[in-house]
Amino acid sequence: MSLFVNLEIDRESCLGLKECGKCLKVCPVGIFGEDGEYPQAMEANQDECTLCDLCLEACRPGAIKVRKLYED
Ligand code: SF4
Ligand code: SF4
Repeated sequence: MSLFVNLEIDRESCLGLKECGKCLKVCPVGIFGEDGEYPQAMEANQDECTLCDLCLEACRPGAIKVRKLYED
């Protein structure tokens, strides 16, 4: 379970791997994997997230949600 960061992909907003897939390419620490036609933020890797925002900058608004658990 991730302790610090929780990442989620909103499939309603995500364009899918075929059309986009940018999050997989830009994340420097390999947070994202494939789950069929969509990316998934792999639970075991989520605490490696450096909050660099590269995925958010590459993505369309709202498709990736980064939640800082330590701020809750
Ligand atoms: S960058 Fe955003 S829209 Fe593109 S595949 Fe990843 S989550 Fe979906
Ligand atoms: S914020 Fe940076 S490290 Fe975290 S998932 Fe997005 S690209 Fe990867």
